[in-house]
Amino acid sequence: MKDCTRKVITCVFGFYVFFAISCKSDSVNSDMKHTSTEQMENNNVEYAMVIHGGAGTILKENMTEELEAAYRDALNKALDIGNEILKSGGSSEEAVINTIAFMEDSPLFNAGKGSVFTHAGTNEMDASIMRGSDLEAGAVGGIKTIKNPIKAAYAVMTQSNHVFLSGEGAEEFAEKQKLESIDPSYFHTEKRWNSLQSILEKEQEIGMNITDMADSKFGTVGAVALDKTGNIVAGTSTGGMTNKRYGRIGDSPVIGAGTYANNASCGVSCTGHGEYFIRYAVAHDVSARMIYGGKSLSDAAEEIINLKLKEVGGAGGLIALDKEGNVTMPFNTEGMYRGYVNNFKKYIGIYKED
Ligand code: ASP
Repeated sequence: MKDCTRKVITCVFGFYVFFAISCKSDSVNSDMKHTSTEQMENNNVEYAMVIHGGAGTILKENMTEELEAAYRDALNKALDIGNEILKSGGSSEEAVINTIAFMEDSPLFNAGKGSVFTHAGTNEMDASIMRGSDLEAGAVGGIKTIKNPIKAAYAVMTQSNHVFLSGEGAEEFAEKQKLESIDPSYFHTEKRWNSLQSILEKEQEIGMNITDMADSKFGTVGAVALDKTGNIVAGTSTGGMTNKRYGRIGDSPVIGAGTYANNASCGVSCTGHGEYFIRYAVAHDVSARMIYGGKSLSDAAEEIINLKLKEVGGAGGLIALDKEGNVTMPFNTEGMYRGYVNNFKKYIGIYKED
């Protein structure tokens, strides 16, 4: 082959490769614009908190004005709780616990009071918390009688030698720590009971087991905070998935899956189809991509939620913040109840276009 022909071929091939790569990264970036709705650059952020109230098929056309207003109001109040604590120099632990406890007390979210029902008609809750300064963590799974599961998770972290307690043992421990225990009927809400009934009817019809995947609504709550000392804490609390059986526990109380915090990288709280989040170790993967791969917070989170999980059908989203106070909230579902606050700004979103 003549030298000039070879040069032309090399040139055309090089241009093709360049063009293909540009198109690929364009498609990833445009996807990112859709789903990772907020990411701030470091702007002397002194403190920050980011929250979620679950991701799923949350569409404006399916929402009444009153319900949307109720969600926005609850997210707003939740952010105010954390903001007051962090602004006045309180710790990220306090901010996360009080904010999550408030959301647990609201019937709007699938955590605490608003928890979904199991197949057996009970409410079984999971929660976890992790501290980024020393990688201490606490979690509870399958508890039925503790009013605020996030407080039980915190007690496990601070008052025991363990990380993860479950069932009656976890309840006994929480009671010994003087946490408020309550009759399980407190967790009964009509809306969640009706969701279980319609799934049970569907099961009868089709003759097989189903979990609440039909409308893919997940109402788990989570909060991640950075306080003025630079400590990051992440927490997550959930009732799990409607119609769950056999003591099923999802990702929310699993450290590294639903919750993770490390001051060297970030804090993360997830929501979505727990089985995927466990198998892909999602929360820890965000941190690992930052530490080992040198990724930014938003790129790390985006790659997992909108490439890796999306590819395999793992529906959900996450909230995360890094040590500079940058925040990201990607999701691969129609919507995610979410918001953040820092010493400059407050943001609340529900739909993709928010
Ligand atoms: N991740 C939770 C679970 O699988 C559900 C949710 O996020 O709503 O238990």
